Amino acid sequence: MSWRLYCPSCGFRGEEQSYFPFCPACRGPLEVEGVLPEARRELGEGRTPVVFEGDVAFKLEHLNPSGSFKDRGISYSLQIAKRLGYRCTVIDSSGNAAISAALYARRLKLEAIVVVPRNAHRAKLSLISSLGAKLLTVENRDRAHEVAVSFSKECFYISHPTSPLFLEGMKGLGEELSEMSRRLTVIAPVSSGSLLLGAYRGLRGRGVEVKLIAAQAAEKASLSSYVSKAYSVGGESSRLADALVIGKPPRAAELAKAIVEGGGAVVKVGDESIKESLGELLDMGFLVEPSSAVAWSAYKVLREELKGEQVAIVLTGSGLKYLEGLRS
Ligand SMILES: [Zn+2]
Repeated sequence: MSWRLYCPSCGFRGEEQSYFPFCPACRGPLEVEGVLPEARRELGEGRTPVVFEGDVAFKLEHLNPSGSFKDRGISYSLQIAKRLGYRCTVIDSSGNAAISAALYARRLKLEAIVVVPRNAHRAKLSLISSLGAKLLTVENRDRAHEVAVSFSKECFYISHPTSPLFLEGMKGLGEELSEMSRRLTVIAPVSSGSLLLGAYRGLRGRGVEVKLIAAQAAEKASLSSYVSKAYSVGGESSRLADALVIGKPPRAAELAKAIVEGGGAVVKVGDESIKESLGELLDMGFLVEPSSAVAWSAYKVLREELKGEQVAIVLTGSGLKYLEGLRS
């Protein structure tokens, strides 16, 4: 069985079984032609628990091996990297994807280079270093991307916002959610959009009707320019949502189309609401990071409208990385 990557925007087609993090001609996100190989649950990622609380189901993605949903996409990507003969991997990330990459690279005996913006969360940086990754700190998220690209000739550049391999790994989330209902409303935090889009593809692949609610950090609420049904809660500042920092998701148009077609919405969430929601999630016993709380904020905004629907809220990142200051 073989596969190749191609670009739906400009028509670029890669060689068989050859990897590109994004289109080398136009830099757009690539898609897969053919069938990608299966991969193992290398560290037991995925098949996360579901906890019902009142009218909603919480999908506990923060319980993945490195404490983030990213493990699904990273595990898949790096297993393929290994089979393609790469010896090192590079990633640019604000934190969770980098921690996941450092962990799985170590497991798979790949050298890991991690490029992070200077303002990344301190506790996350120390975890990345502890895992043995080579840590490069740069001014901001855009610069981190440029530096990562400069390593991408020799090293497998994970590029989780654009990579079709990462998205392939995320489909499993949707397949698991599909066991819940034939018609589902999914609420999740959106930064790069790979979680919600991967889940969507997995759910649609199983024939489930899906309504997507994208919860975005107020300062990075890029989807509200594509989706007219948009709400705002908790003010304009979103410094607490340190994992939600991507200004424009590379697959924003596809994600927006999926949201609109299913009758979904975008909710912009600011710090006041993030703080309140994080406290309520802790009250329920969910030890998550502040960025995960935007999904609960979004649910509260739409609670009346969603009455009678089967709602799944995805909790994305573990609060254990924030033990120093979860309440601050
Ligand atoms: Zn292209």
